[in-house]
Amino acid sequence: MDPPAIRSAMPRVLFLDQSGDLGGAELSLLDIARHFRAAATVALLGDGPFARRLRADAVPVELVAGGGRLAVRREDGPAAWLAALGAVGTIVPRLVGLCRRHELIYANTQKAFVLGAVAALLSRRPLIWHLRDILTSEHFGRANLRLVISLSRLAAARVIANSDATAAAFVAAGGDRRRLVTIPNGIDPAPWCPLAPDRRARLRQELGLRADPVVGIFGRLAAWKGQHVLVEALRALPDVQCLVVGDPLFGEEPYRERLVRRIDELGLSERVRLCGFRADIPAVMQACDMIVHASTAAEPFGRVIVEAMLADRPVIASDAGGAREIVEDGASGILVPPGDADQLAAAIGRILEDRELAARLATGGRARALAQFGLTRTLGRIALVVSEVAAAAAGERDVSAAERGGPTWKRS
Ligand code: UDP
Repeated sequence: MDPPAIRSAMPRVLFLDQSGDLGGAELSLLDIARHFRAAATVALLGDGPFARRLRADAVPVELVAGGGRLAVRREDGPAAWLAALGAVGTIVPRLVGLCRRHELIYANTQKAFVLGAVAALLSRRPLIWHLRDILTSEHFGRANLRLVISLSRLAAARVIANSDATAAAFVAAGGDRRRLVTIPNGIDPAPWCPLAPDRRARLRQELGLRADPVVGIFGRLAAWKGQHVLVEALRALPDVQCLVVGDPLFGEEPYRERLVRRIDELGLSERVRLCGFRADIPAVMQACDMIVHASTAAEPFGRVIVEAMLADRPVIASDAGGAREIVEDGASGILVPPGDADQLAAAIGRILEDRELAARLATGGRARALAQFGLTRTLGRIALVVSEVAAAAAGERDVSAAERGGPTWKRS
């Protein structure tokens, strides 16, 4: 079979995401949706900062949430399950209507994929799933894994994995390797311009930081993101300050409370600052002297690692998953075993003591981020997948219309 033609016109894409909040998946989709905005809509299950950012960037947004709560945990009773079913019953017909006004569906999160797959099958539109999770039983229930893998075989024309680690877990869980393409996240380097020394000094003061070295950790507050591992590491690092940037996003407030209690117990309140969610990440990263990624489980990608490299700061990351594909140990950062506070403390100590090493890692990291994780290349690769899928679907419609003897239609 000939490869599908690539069309020059931008296909009408319906992006679908479950969250109104700004996590890594949503920040990545923001860049993608902006690129396609002339012909795209983003359908969301909830309003919030993500929807506002999209609208501010002139990306059309549709809210498709039903009245009921969609999040159901295993321990929830029948009322919660019924409410969730009711919500699905409202969302799917709305989505089908939206799908019919678009050429393809692009699901950006797992819940969005499940709903999008049903709507795509009902509206007979092709679907791309941008997979941003490591699909293992460590993170997901078996029923959940079986559902998404079966749906991916039924409804996904292509699955875009955000790292080789994500791709490998998808295949190991039973996913179809032939539909899979790995496209690492890309980060726009433009906002990572150097921060003037006086602005840096002001920002440090605003953040309540003293002259002592500052280690930053960025990302939503969640146990597996490992902010507590860095806090434990600080016990062996007198005079080192720590800036914890991010908020709990998906019901992880109890973790935040435990973290604050532990900081108090260890007598570290003077040295650890929790500054909540910040929208000025490039500046705040440059206010730090080094940046730590301390996830205790394999990170599907880890945007914060690439961002820290762009900030020209030495990076220490957990040696697992996507982080291992971003950082080359000793050249563009340092890798440490996940969850190991002693090794993390030792790596921080090495960088603080050896200025030459710190400078070499920062320079190597920035060069690697610019060369390997640029946004332009990522968007180009995604655009290619989108136009291939749209062209293949249009080709199929042509063939079936011709077989019926009716008129063929193909948008230019
Ligand atoms: N982030 C942010 N403000 C914060 C904390 C994090 O804008 O206060 C951003 C961060 O810059 C990164 C994203 O949130 O772009 C987190 O993405 P990552 O892939 O590291 O983790 P995820 O949230 O996808 O698990």
